[in-house]
Amino acid sequence: MSLPPIDTDYFTKFLVELLNIASPTGFAEPAIAFVEKELSRYKQLELFRTRKGALVAKWGIENDEAPVALTAHVDTLGAVVKEIKHTGRLKLSRIGGIQWPSVETEGVWVFTSQGGKIRGSVLIDNASGHIFGQAGTDTPRNDDHMEVRLDVRTTSEQETRELGINIGDCVAFDPRVEVTNGFVRSRFLDDKACVANLVAAIKSMADAGLSPKRTVYFHISNYEEVGHGASAGIPSEVAELVTVDMAVVGAGQESDEFSATLCIKDSGGVYHEGLNKKMRALAEQYNISYKTDVYPFYGSDGEAFWRAGGDVALALIGPGVDASHNYERAHIDGLNATTNWIMAFLLSD
Ligand SMILES: [Zn+2]
Repeated sequence: MSLPPIDTDYFTKFLVELLNIASPTGFAEPAIAFVEKELSRYKQLELFRTRKGALVAKWGIENDEAPVALTAHVDTLGAVVKEIKHTGRLKLSRIGGIQWPSVETEGVWVFTSQGGKIRGSVLIDNASGHIFGQAGTDTPRNDDHMEVRLDVRTTSEQETRELGINIGDCVAFDPRVEVTNGFVRSRFLDDKACVANLVAAIKSMADAGLSPKRTVYFHISNYEEVGHGASAGIPSEVAELVTVDMAVVGAGQESDEFSATLCIKDSGGVYHEGLNKKMRALAEQYNISYKTDVYPFYGSDGEAFWRAGGDVALALIGPGVDASHNYERAHIDGLNATTNWIMAFLLSD
């Protein structure tokens, strides 16, 4: 048996739209709603939200006593307003570990708690080359020195507050999405690429008139970047959980942008040997280009579930993403390999 074809145009369009929806952790509701709307097209799926705000889509099969689950996250790195400076500019507190140099001069939206949206950009606090010269280059890029310059008239804390900006308001960095020669270059491919993989796999299966062999729960997580996304929301009867999240590409890594990767070990330890074996066998069976790898600074939502007491076999697969948590890039070959691997899992016993 072969896998159903992937609608690559659909996948790319869905991914680009999702990437362009701001969804830092804690403010991911618009992205959850977007995925929910897309999945509501499939009558095979029963959709519900957890109290924490994650989306779960159940594709039920009669009399299945050992359901499986897949999880991917729509929340991303971002920031909140930490302080309003006397100049009217903003100091930020980062959500997750975005690297400051990677967002220097990036455009941002400040989403006010009253529902407003104000444009701005991230700068070092001594940015003008004509004033500070070499000092602007030498200043460390950290929480103290990076600030948001708002594209509205304000020169004081008071004026900024009058715009409706408060401490704790969400600040989202522009993703800057580009698609060229099969490459998708954007922030936050981690992990929106894998959410798109899940949605594309569901579409391919449904279009081909196929059903999974087991009852499946698709868990779309909204708190992964702070470490506890899938700690809740995976039903206790689930026997196997596949976390779908980006693979680490760069110096010393086996992963690349043109394959999917099975992660054997990351900072949280080693994944489940039995399920790893099954995922490898499926990749071989369906001729899916894959690597195995070890990720140096990485924790997954599956591990969050394990730590919360989840009793499942657990594996982690995903497409290779270059320069992760920075200005990321993936390729359609690695992305399609991941969608295929998901379908192979869905069609397995
Ligand atoms: Zn991730």
